Amino acid sequence: MDPLCLDPLQDGHVHTLYSDGSASAEQMVRAAVARGLVSLAVTDHMPLPEPRRYAMDIERIGAYRRELSGLRDAYRGRITVHRGLELDYLPEEDRWCREMAAMGWDRLVGSVHRLRTDGGTWLINGHRGEFARAVAEGFGGSARRLVEAYFATLRRLIRSGLCDVVGHFDVVKKHLAGRADFDEAQPWYRDAVERTLEAVAAAGPAVEINTGGLFQPAAAPYPSPWIVEACRRRRIPLVLGSDAHRPDRVGAGFVRVTGRAAGEQRPPSTAGTGSCRDAARESQGPPENDPGLVADPAAGVPGRGAGSGSSPPVPARRASAGK
Ligand SMILES: [Zn+2]
Ligand SMILES: [Zn+2]
Repeated sequence: MDPLCLDPLQDGHVHTLYSDGSASAEQMVRAAVARGLVSLAVTDHMPLPEPRRYAMDIERIGAYRRELSGLRDAYRGRITVHRGLELDYLPEEDRWCREMAAMGWDRLVGSVHRLRTDGGTWLINGHRGEFARAVAEGFGGSARRLVEAYFATLRRLIRSGLCDVVGHFDVVKKHLAGRADFDEAQPWYRDAVERTLEAVAAAGPAVEINTGGLFQPAAAPYPSPWIVEACRRRRIPLVLGSDAHRPDRVGAGFVRVTGRAAGEQRPPSTAGTGSCRDAARESQGPPENDPGLVADPAAGVPGRGAGSGSSPPVPARRASAGK
């Protein structure tokens, strides 16, 4: 499959009750089957050295792996279930992350959710108040300093070689929309993004188009369309992930961001721009004010299309992984 041809029948990023999702793994698989998807990667948040509200309990990781293996077998022939994990990377916890990755997964989505400073560890895509506190107390009131620290940390993750897919590439914008001190057109921001894409191109992971952002305050996919186009110019593989935390969000927004109906393989000129002739087929709920890491209100999902194949939702694991 052309790595630049996004398949709206393959969802590479969802959560379950094992971390901060609201449904069981089997309920998420059933939702994917009901929507006609051909593959689903279940990628719950990895356990952390210090427990957080959204992370998996370390005691449950064995049961998680067994349950996903069981679902993969039980649903074989109907949908391909991938046993995945969302890495929650901090350079200071690199060894911990490597131990998690070394357990062996079909899909490792690498994400940065937290930044560490001398003053503490700050969640940057949680609630609005948490983000405001991170800017104020962690970065001296400077959103720019926080954003630059985010992309520097993301580059560390990418260069670690740990992940197959870079999750929600520009999620740091979640609570920045409308702030007077933030504009994606600013040269420093574009420079931070370009430097990070250079790291992606060198290390080899895919970049996820995460539709969860459509239902959050950013009201836009992660990453923004201009970054998707920059990925295409660099021939960086792109994959789709809903980041669904509940069954009705599996595959949500895929038609909108791919610009074509489910199952249609031809990459249109509008792909990744957010414009889409099929957009009317989807309804978008109002953006959440304070959704935390959980995406929210109901939205349309792609209907079943013809002939999409059953290849995994991301290219095969890179040779660089595990270094
Ligand atoms: Zn995430
Ligand atoms: Zn996620």
